[in-house]
Amino acid sequence: MSKDVQPIFIMPEGTQRSTGRNAQRNNIMAAKLVAETVRTTLGPKGMDKMLVDSLNDVTITNDGVTILEEMQIEHPAAKMIVEVAKTQEDEVGDGTTTAVVLAGELLKKAEALLEQEIHPTVIIKGYRIAAEKAQDILTSVAEPVSVKDTLTLKKIAMTAMTGKGAESFKELLADLTVTAVKNVSEESDGKFYIDKEDIKIEKKVGGSVDDTKLVKGIVLDKEKVHAAMPRQVVGGKVALIDSAIEVKSTEMDAKIQITDPNQLQSFLDMEEKMLKDMVASIVNAGASVVFCQKGIDDLAQHYLAKHGIYASRRVKKSDMEKLAKATGASVVTKIDDLTTKDLGNAGIVEEVKVGDEEMTFVSECKNPKAVTILVKGATEHVIDEVKRAMEDAIGDVASALQGGQVVAGAASVEMEVSKQLRKFSDSLSGREQLAVMAFADTMEVIPRTLAENAGLDPIDVVTELKAAHDKNRKWAGINVFSGKVMDAWQAGVIEPLKIKTQAVSSASEVAIMILRIDDVIAGGPGEGGGMPPGGMPPGGMPPGMDGMGM
Ligand code: ADP
Ligand code: MG
Repeated sequence: MSKDVQPIFIMPEGTQRSTGRNAQRNNIMAAKLVAETVRTTLGPKGMDKMLVDSLNDVTITNDGVTILEEMQIEHPAAKMIVEVAKTQEDEVGDGTTTAVVLAGELLKKAEALLEQEIHPTVIIKGYRIAAEKAQDILTSVAEPVSVKDTLTLKKIAMTAMTGKGAESFKELLADLTVTAVKNVSEESDGKFYIDKEDIKIEKKVGGSVDDTKLVKGIVLDKEKVHAAMPRQVVGGKVALIDSAIEVKSTEMDAKIQITDPNQLQSFLDMEEKMLKDMVASIVNAGASVVFCQKGIDDLAQHYLAKHGIYASRRVKKSDMEKLAKATGASVVTKIDDLTTKDLGNAGIVEEVKVGDEEMTFVSECKNPKAVTILVKGATEHVIDEVKRAMEDAIGDVASALQGGQVVAGAASVEMEVSKQLRKFSDSLSGREQLAVMAFADTMEVIPRTLAENAGLDPIDVVTELKAAHDKNRKWAGINVFSGKVMDAWQAGVIEPLKIKTQAVSSASEVAIMILRIDDVIAGGPGEGGGMPPGGMPPGGMPPGMDGMGM
């Protein structure tokens, strides 16, 4: 550098920057690595991952989003892929691995096109066209499903659990799933509304997964507050109170000066009377069960017990809401205002010993809009994985009911989309056609991965599937156990349409977003790692991004 020419710095010292093909290559590589990590878990023969966190807590799972969340990925482009899994989890609850694997493959195929000097904008345009067409194809091949198709719904639940820790118990768990989802679903104008939060999954170590059961109501990790209260109330009239059944000194006059023993006595009497009045309001309303979100004074507990009322205290707010939905009670703040109208109903409220802890079962509610699945199993790890599998199953059954459309899995639908996309690409010309064909090829990553994970030859499998689809067998999928082509619909491998449409749209969106980036600017360490200037991917840029080279 000559003496009179000053170097120009437009960014603080220590800023890292990579541009053009370099930036693209790095981002694609990072994204592919993420996909590579989860792909071995895909499908019924997928393997599990053992994740150990900084506290040495171990998670063993097969669930894409769980793996990615636990991995604490830092690279910005890689983080964008993790977002795809999260979106899939939020929107459907299942299909997270599929979405990530598709995104990784779209980028891999894009890389090959970039090598052929095809400009990113052309690839992006082709991917957009293909993604839209793929949605149309998916919708057109899907089959309808209704709430009456219990058997189909059960197959959906079982498909979701195939290959997970829950597999051996999938018959039972699928039955519970379908019943639970049907219970909490609300129908209006032929449409179904389901809030998955209304299905509470309570875990309890002990027994076997076989002992998992559905409680038509809510199971609380709570005992009754007083030993003299009944253990069981049949035909319970349930009051839900979200304020304390106590006399709080702050609610009284600021200062109480006691100058003579009689005053103390009258003060105590007054307190006692207030508590008695509160209990009287509860008794007069006709309640036989009380769930209180706050504390219950010892004396109040005693009076409640005397009236044969069952009570639990410090019930979580979320549980209070679920109790309201399950029993039909309204949550009341001012105890004086409690009336019979506010009470809910529960066939049986009882304290039950599960393992070595007491729990409260609020069960046999009539038409409960919130239910509980009590998951049992020999160890915490088993239960956690069963819980995750059930969450996937609940998500899929809910999604199938809400969307009203389903497709067959085992890679049959992906092969069909691939075939029809390729046909569609014939109608295009120029370089975009190449991108649409690349998109069609991308769909084949699903059968290839399912085959690889099952120890089968992926090329043979894809070739046979192609031949079957050419003969218009739209549900021809892969039997991962025999390696043969099967009719996935007949085999009962059924999934909600939404898994596939969501996976295709999130995967293509993220691939496009990553392809659009041609400049990565990262603030240097030491600078507090503040957000670098515009053009950054969502998900934020971690400080000191020196892992760029991966
Ligand atoms: P994801 O996180 O994407 O849901 P999974 O590990 O649950 O990943 O695998 C889902 C894939 O496994 C889907 O493509 C689905 O069609 C396929 N699959 C599920 N059950 C079977 C089966 N019995 N035979 C073949 N493929 C199956
Ligand atoms: Mg799944």
